[in-house]
Amino acid sequence: MTDCIFCEIVKGDIPKDFRFKDENVLAFDDIHPVAKVHVLFIPKEHIAAFENLFDDAILSSIRKGIQKIVEQNDLVGKGYKIIVNGGGGQVINHLHFHLIGPTGLHAPVV
Ligand code: AMP
Ligand code: ZN
Repeated sequence: MTDCIFCEIVKGDIPKDFRFKDENVLAFDDIHPVAKVHVLFIPKEHIAAFENLFDDAILSSIRKGIQKIVEQNDLVGKGYKIIVNGGGGQVINHLHFHLIGPTGLHAPVV
């Protein structure tokens, strides 16, 4: 899609070090991290928001990617959050899952 910054990342027009990559998704560091680990997982296909996601293969790829980054960064026992802003709450209208950690144990929802 034109005028979508995450589609530009998928096309390679904005270079990124990918933390995870498979046939369905890419993951890269958020440019404004709110914790030591702040990785965004996006589908390669332009999907505007979570309410427009119907492909379970994409969800499965995101699950695998998140679990890999959680393990690599030793986040079990330290706390992490997975956040998806949707329904117009998102700033970027290309679906993305935020993985944020460490958040500490028993952290509040927001
Ligand atoms: P949201 O409010 O859920 O739409 O979050 C959008 C996120 O994308 C924010 O955390 C931004 O810091 C992040 N972001 C925006 N542009 C880029 C970029 N070029 N590379 C990495 N992260 C970005
Ligand atoms: Zn897009």
